[in-house]
Amino acid sequence: MKKVVLVVKDNNCASNDPCALCGKRTDPSCGPELFLEGTWSLVCHECGEKHAPGLVRLLDLARNAEEYYLAQWGTH
Ligand SMILES: [Zn+2]
Repeated sequence: MKKVVLVVKDNNCASNDPCALCGKRTDPSCGPELFLEGTWSLVCHECGEKHAPGLVRLLDLARNAEEYYLAQWGTH
C-alpha cells in the first residue's frame, strides 16, 4: 500500500470537495486543513486520524484557539 502523506495547508475557502481518500463529503473551514501532500485534495479528519493523528490534533487545537479568541474579542 502506498504511504499516504498528509500536510496542513491554509484552505482558501473556495473548495468543498469530497475527501481524496474515502470520497465522503468534507466540511472544510477556512484556515488550516488537511491535504494530500503535493496537491490541493482535501482529506477528511476521519482519514486524517488514520494517517496523521498528530496533525488532526493540531487542527483541533488551532480551531479551539480560534473559537476562544472570537468568544473573547469578537470577530477579527
Ligand atoms: Zn476521508
